[in-house]
Amino acid sequence: MTRQSTPPAVELRSVVKAYGSGERKVVALAGLDVVFASATFTAVMGPSGSGKSTLLHCAAGLDRATSGEVVIDGTPIGRMSERALTRLRRERVGFVFQAFNLIGALTAAQNVALPLRLAGRKPASGEVTAMLDEVGLGDRAGHRPSELSGGQQQRVAIARALVTRPAVLFADEPTGALDAASGREVLGLLRAAVDRHGQTIVMVTHDPFAAAHADRVLFLADGRVVDELIEPTGAQEIAVRTARLEESRAAVTR
Ligand code: ADP
Repeated sequence: MTRQSTPPAVELRSVVKAYGSGERKVVALAGLDVVFASATFTAVMGPSGSGKSTLLHCAAGLDRATSGEVVIDGTPIGRMSERALTRLRRERVGFVFQAFNLIGALTAAQNVALPLRLAGRKPASGEVTAMLDEVGLGDRAGHRPSELSGGQQQRVAIARALVTRPAVLFADEPTGALDAASGREVLGLLRAAVDRHGQTIVMVTHDPFAAAHADRVLFLADGRVVDELIEPTGAQEIAVRTARLEESRAAVTR
């Protein structure tokens, strides 16, 4: 299969991330080995404090691992200079956040064009419009974020994250601030980016319904992967698995 010749979008090898030292030391990631294969959609779940955000930050090169190695798009990032890492992130990594994080003074089109401009590229004619069309907002190019609904703002944020065709898109609770219908639209767009363009997506979520859009669900606890579902059948299977993991954790700590 050709897929095997494509390197993983991101790989974490024995990644440890500790904060603080001595008695105040917190091990947020306790030696993670995870591969995010190209053109796959992974959901990361787990209780608060299990290490989901830290995993996202380390896998995206926003934060450095204490030990172990993170490889983004075939490049080990551990020894990279800040400058080279910033460039790699800018060109090969996309982000979508719960709070959209659009720039209020810029129009939808200007927000989407921003990553290209930061990379020193002048957007080709029609490039930004095509991206906005892809998220169903071709007719809102001139609107500012305050003139758009939450769901529309998140779709602009997705267009902005995908315009550079990054090796991986990290999404942190992308539907957390949206109503159910807007959330479904956003999840549909993410799924379509994987299916149509071979986009790789890693999404942190608490929501079994959101996680059901992924090809694989990783369950974290105490900085470790404690379970995994491949090709989940739906939100119910994920919710049941989450409840079972919580029960067994509660039994251990009792
Ligand atoms: P989650 O996203 O699953 O809620 P986090 O990755 O935010 O988990 O946190 C994992 C652990 O690391 C928690 O115990 C948290 O308190 C700790 N932690 C996270 N960030 C920091 C930090 N900057 N300084 C100290 N401890 C931190």
